[in-house]
Amino acid sequence: MSRDIVNFNAGPAGLPAPALKRAHEELLDYAGTGMSIMEHSHRGKAYDAVHKETMALVRKLLGVPDTHDVLFLQGGASGMFATIPMNFLGDGQTADYVVTGTWSEKALEEAKLIGETHVAGTGGVDGNYTSIPSELDLTDGAAYVHITSNNTIAGTQFQSFPTTKAPLIADMSSDIMSRPLDVKNFGMIYAGAQKNLGPSGVVLVIAEKSLIERGSKTIPKILRYKTHADKESLYHTPPTFAVYIMRNVLAWIDELGGLEKMAARNEEKATALYGAIDASDGYYRSPVDADARSRMNIVWRLPSEELEAKFIAEATEAGLVGLKGHRSVGGLRASTYNAVSPEGVGRLVDFMAKFRAANAS
Ligand SMILES: *Cc1c(COP(=O)(O)O)cnc(C)c1O
Repeated sequence: MSRDIVNFNAGPAGLPAPALKRAHEELLDYAGTGMSIMEHSHRGKAYDAVHKETMALVRKLLGVPDTHDVLFLQGGASGMFATIPMNFLGDGQTADYVVTGTWSEKALEEAKLIGETHVAGTGGVDGNYTSIPSELDLTDGAAYVHITSNNTIAGTQFQSFPTTKAPLIADMSSDIMSRPLDVKNFGMIYAGAQKNLGPSGVVLVIAEKSLIERGSKTIPKILRYKTHADKESLYHTPPTFAVYIMRNVLAWIDELGGLEKMAARNEEKATALYGAIDASDGYYRSPVDADARSRMNIVWRLPSEELEAKFIAEATEAGLVGLKGHRSVGGLRASTYNAVSPEGVGRLVDFMAKFRAANAS
């Protein structure tokens, strides 16, 4: 078995080889303890050091200020869709949702079960999510404003973030740690780990302490952000192995030079891929607005669905895997998360040129 493939999966996605190699080396005997990190108590010294190091790396890489807590939770980003309104959408309040894709729709659906919501902007008409709204229709005194920073399925991304009076809450599942952020402008940022941070099973949450304090005190304890913040995410057993792998991934980003470097690397990859699409005389076509193009999930179409199927089959054969678009939209999608190297994207760009030469009529 070789790892000579390029993994463009949308999620769970590829992990950086050095992070996996480190896990491989440490698997049976973590730090000379004679046990795997999975077999350690979550209250023991070995795991505690991993837990704290992971939190410290999140703070360092994103420049998280003291006003914000870093939490490791469970239930996926979808769990957060539910617990955000449960905690922060009180009686008589309205929550603003910017609906730019399937995941924002799902977040909105959950909030509707809890209280009043208002759609403050959309990513296009008739569920055709090809853009990012440049202006928002915000509610005065809203409980919060919810956005999806990167739309994993549609292939669009906020290039800059709106300024809001109400706390800005962002689902960053598919672009967290892909670029530097000004965390102080957000009430909360959350991300399921399985796109850009590690394996599935852990959700990274960064939330303003004052927002956490305002959370509902009548919902079950396990669902309150405050419960987890008060106990530094050790209220109950955290997903220890997922946190450990996230530690390895973050240490790899840190070694590479942090998020400025990562953003430049991601820009290089996206520029190469969009360049290949734009220079194809319309053979490859990007369905999204040019100023909304995602740097993480790059979607495109071919002249026919038959050619798309052929492209996917031959690309897979060539070791370029995971390029099938989401089943709800079809087409092609290359998820170029942090772990995908510029060389890997280069292989895809070469393949695209060859495929076009062989198949254009
Ligand atoms: C994948 C994804 C989700 C869903 O994450 P789960 O952890 O499976 O609940 C939510 N939002 C975005 C933007 C995603 O990409």
